[in-house]
Amino acid sequence: MKFVGAHVSASGGVFNAPINATKIGAKAFALFTKNQRQWEGKSLTQEEIDRFKAELEKAQILPKHVLPHDSYLINLGHPELEAREKSLNAFLDEVKRCEALGLDKLNFHPGSHLKQISEEACLELISASMNEVLRQTNGVTLVVENTAGQGSNMGYKMEHLGYLMEHSIDKERVGVCIDTCHLFTSGYDIRSEEAYRQTMEKFATIVGFKYLKGMHLNDSKPDLGTHVDRHDSIGKGKLGVEPFRFIMNDERMDEIPLILETIDDSIWAEEIALLYSLVQ
Ligand SMILES: [Zn+2]
Ligand SMILES: [Zn+2]
Repeated sequence: MKFVGAHVSASGGVFNAPINATKIGAKAFALFTKNQRQWEGKSLTQEEIDRFKAELEKAQILPKHVLPHDSYLINLGHPELEAREKSLNAFLDEVKRCEALGLDKLNFHPGSHLKQISEEACLELISASMNEVLRQTNGVTLVVENTAGQGSNMGYKMEHLGYLMEHSIDKERVGVCIDTCHLFTSGYDIRSEEAYRQTMEKFATIVGFKYLKGMHLNDSKPDLGTHVDRHDSIGKGKLGVEPFRFIMNDERMDEIPLILETIDDSIWAEEIALLYSLVQ
């Protein structure tokens, strides 16, 4: 069974996210548990936590179908120690917010080398940061997302994700989120049945489907291999509808949150219905 939703707004309080998800017919959702453009967030009160859990139950969405996303400021592979520690602390806080809300995953972007260190060195730092977070927390799985490879962002090759899984001290608490737009613009084609098969075969070999904990379903404005991160509405970009038909009929994507981060939130309900209509 597929669990499709969108990255909904949590403005006014985290408990608004499940309410907003229900409005668009979502069976899953993503949210920021704090302002994604600020370092510090107000800590969650017990009242907010209780209200979130009550609304989640009302929405009939299971915690495992919620994929919280961390702040955009965090860079676990920052070349400078002080900045990396600031990121690590902010990330730890985010993991604890998820724990408090009863959620079991946190989605994040690997990090950037900022052209100061090599890609290998950056990956080592990200891996060390992840392991430190695993040591200091319980219960939340760290879900690293593939990227378009814009600027000096790591995570644009499956090998980067594979490395982070392989070097984790707790393989039960790490996973991967595949963003279809990022996948395509980082150079992996999924537009034809054969291209999709080959790309997923690569993922199976280099990363492994046991690590697939969620997906971001986005069409792409830029073309294959452009390394530009710009989402489009489903069927309106360079990917078209077909790749989403393959995904909706691929049982390897069962039971995980499938999240729209498409650009026009006024048509999310239609996009969710469209995606479900593709199931054969
Ligand atoms: Zn994404
Ligand atoms: Zn993106």
